[in-house]
Amino acid sequence: MKGIALIFLILILFCSCTSASKSTRTKPLIVATTSILADGIQQLVGDQDLDLLTQADLVVYHGLYLEGKMTEIFEKLAKQQTLIDVSKGIPVDRLIRSGPESHSVDPHIWFDISLWSAALAYASQELQVWKPSWKPQLQTNTEAYLLQLEALDQQTKTKVQELVQRNQVLVTAHDAFAYFGKAYGLPVYSLQGLSTLSEPGLRDLTELISLIQTYQVKAIFAEQTISPKALQAVARGAAEKNQTVKLAGPLYTDSLDAPNTPAGTYLGMFETNLQLIYSQLLP
Ligand SMILES: [Zn+2]
Repeated sequence: MKGIALIFLILILFCSCTSASKSTRTKPLIVATTSILADGIQQLVGDQDLDLLTQADLVVYHGLYLEGKMTEIFEKLAKQQTLIDVSKGIPVDRLIRSGPESHSVDPHIWFDISLWSAALAYASQELQVWKPSWKPQLQTNTEAYLLQLEALDQQTKTKVQELVQRNQVLVTAHDAFAYFGKAYGLPVYSLQGLSTLSEPGLRDLTELISLIQTYQVKAIFAEQTISPKALQAVARGAAEKNQTVKLAGPLYTDSLDAPNTPAGTYLGMFETNLQLIYSQLLP
């Protein structure tokens, strides 16, 4: 994830030529650092421009080091712009850590819908402080959107419970689903760690293949932003040991699909993933 967020940010930093200058805008400009976050904030603010970092009146970011080195840029921006770190809306004890360091927090909070709701509810409160005149609209939008999220959360619980009862496990390319697994009770495994930049080693491949044999895993899942090569090697390795496993997907993990496509919003992305996982793993 960390690599993806960084690329997205660099792009928006260097593409500021496409946006109207601060003085010619009639509405304040809000910037979010990823497509997933941009959709969440768009749902809250409604008809409002979300765009580029350097032109922004307000910057909304994930936090939890998801934006990596960009954190230093945020610190500089904070002197002249308002910033919202949505991860501040999540109780610290619900964060998943791989070590004691602050950068070892798993940033994929959007795969636990209740945590994503908490992050957006916090963003809504901060937006209301930033623009008190927007308060009624923000409250209405937030309430409506949180209800939609809650409905999807229930639907996810029901579907995943069925998979858990049938001893299914979720195997993906990188470690994006730890919050999903914890929230909905499904064991999750991946080939790469939290960052999409690291290369899987031979040991990881061998371990994953034996896990696929143990659980007789029917399908493993490629991801939209990661090359399927390593998972193809896993599927070949499993086949050599007489365990046929399908390489399914791709799942949308660290960014949404293009606008106006089924996975082009957070709700659509989550539902698309859920349907795919459910249909591929259900015996
Ligand atoms: Zn990721």
